[in-house]
Amino acid sequence: MLTGAEDENRRNIFDAPIHKRFPKRFNIYGDTYAEWERSSILYLNPKYVNCTKCSDCDSWITDKQKPGYQARLDVGEYVDEKIYCPECATFAREKLKN
Ligand SMILES: [Zn+2]
Repeated sequence: MLTGAEDENRRNIFDAPIHKRFPKRFNIYGDTYAEWERSSILYLNPKYVNCTKCSDCDSWITDKQKPGYQARLDVGEYVDEKIYCPECATFAREKLKN
């Protein structure tokens, strides 16, 4: 949980127009460029958003079996009643086999 000061700092970072913080057009490599079109912010708080952390690596994931599934997050997978990110789920399944 964020304290009031932390929340205020975070808000200040994102309040500034993003196009002033990043160039509209930026170089990927060589002569390849990408252009920024838009961005969005998703505050990850399991109390309000369908998100949780992987049981192994702590990366943010969403639970497709619950309402409010977040398409911007990796989908968590249950292995032996614990939820994992896709990579850790693979290892957890392998571990169960052995
Ligand atoms: Zn993981």
